[in-house]
Amino acid sequence: MRFPLALTVKIARHIVKHKLRRTPRFALVLQLEPLHTCNLTCTGCGRIREYSTSLKDMMSLEDCLGSAQECDAPMVSICGGEPLIYPKIEELTAGLLAQRRIVYICTNGVFMRKKMRDYLAAIYTPSQEATLSRLLSEKLITDKEAETIRQGKSEGRPVIRPTKWMYWNVHVDGLEYTHDLIVEREGVFKECVEAIKMAKILGYQVATNTTVYRETDVKEIEQMFQFFSSMNVDGHTISPGYDYDAAKKDMVKRLGRKPEDFFLTRAMTREKFARIQEWGEKFTIFGTPVYQEFLAGKRDLTCTAWAIPTRNIRGWKAPCYLITDGHYPRYQEMLDQVNWNKYGVVDGVARDSRCENCMVHCGYDPSGALGTNYKAGDNWKNFRYNFWPRPAPSVEGAKVVAFNGASVGKGHLAEAKAAVNNGLKGAKSAFQNNGHDEPANGNGGGCGSGDTSQRDDLLAKIRNGK
Ligand code: SF4
Ligand code: SF4
Repeated sequence: MRFPLALTVKIARHIVKHKLRRTPRFALVLQLEPLHTCNLTCTGCGRIREYSTSLKDMMSLEDCLGSAQECDAPMVSICGGEPLIYPKIEELTAGLLAQRRIVYICTNGVFMRKKMRDYLAAIYTPSQEATLSRLLSEKLITDKEAETIRQGKSEGRPVIRPTKWMYWNVHVDGLEYTHDLIVEREGVFKECVEAIKMAKILGYQVATNTTVYRETDVKEIEQMFQFFSSMNVDGHTISPGYDYDAAKKDMVKRLGRKPEDFFLTRAMTREKFARIQEWGEKFTIFGTPVYQEFLAGKRDLTCTAWAIPTRNIRGWKAPCYLITDGHYPRYQEMLDQVNWNKYGVVDGVARDSRCENCMVHCGYDPSGALGTNYKAGDNWKNFRYNFWPRPAPSVEGAKVVAFNGASVGKGHLAEAKAAVNNGLKGAKSAFQNNGHDEPANGNGGGCGSGDTSQRDDLLAKIRNGK
């Protein structure tokens, strides 16, 4: 099976329950942002910008667990910011699992190995020595770290354990050169790869999470899938970047430039995702085949942003993960008070100009699962996709030259800094101001889906530099 049966059944039951009750709107996945602090300052990150004045604030554990109960989504994606910085991440994960929810920890990967060493210390007995030897031989832990593990852990706090109900969801936007440049730190890609290797040895489930931008080289994304598939990664989330900046539209109008000079339009998204169904056959791409058809431009869907609500320090963010028109104290209040008919694109017409180019998974993937815009055969397609055997690990992946940046001596970050200082306007602010500019419109995108123009500029530079 492509996905664990218990997880598929849990989600299917939740949908059927609400369909039978004729619940008009309900949550499928909660995007929980316990904090917006991050150890990285990725170019174009929406979150660290939109919430720049409250980066030090965080939700209480009770509030986090209460939010999950309140919307009752069967899946919770813990994101942020970097969720592994949240001081009670272990308690939060354990609490959500105790509520019998599927948990995704969306991380940039930098602290994953530390959390897994904590787990090893908590379960350490001499019978773990074979595992420690393997981790040592693959240089995934040091001798000193092995010694600390052997001393055990006595704090009495929970640890993040491998279970079929939990996934590490690791943010990777390309191979080493590209990814490190986007996250503005050399070594992050390598750390992600090592963390994924260690996680697989220890029996965790791991997914990768990738955003595609205007300048993303689709060939590289396919190589990235091959590479991670060859490491037995359990699945991949992929979504188009989001770009609605009204100022850019104004430039189009005033300067007469084409929209595709500035942002990832719907047409461009369809072009980038033209082969997604083929990828879905070769790799374990998460998301329904109906959403894949939508991305490839083969059908229309209506946005169901209410099905993937976002909860953070300010409340329930409406209408979606990307646009902020308000925060509500209660999920139901948000459902009742937001005029959902104001958003999305229907029959090719954007009901809100900010939605015009949006095809992101948090707006449209649930539409595929919920059967909005249903067409005959959709249920069979979804069933077949979920229940068919999982694609075999990629053989070609072992040959991919994934370490094409700092690992092979290309200190490209210094180069990039020099280049942007010489006039690459978009990325300049990210490098020079540490990425914490307040966006002009007060809105921002999600982790990895913010104002895409900075990343696009940067990616254009990478392409030219290669
Ligand atoms: S994109 Fe994610 S990892 Fe990068 S700075 Fe933003 S929150 Fe952190
Ligand atoms: S179409 Fe996109 S931007 Fe608009 S409400 Fe839906 S998810 Fe949000």
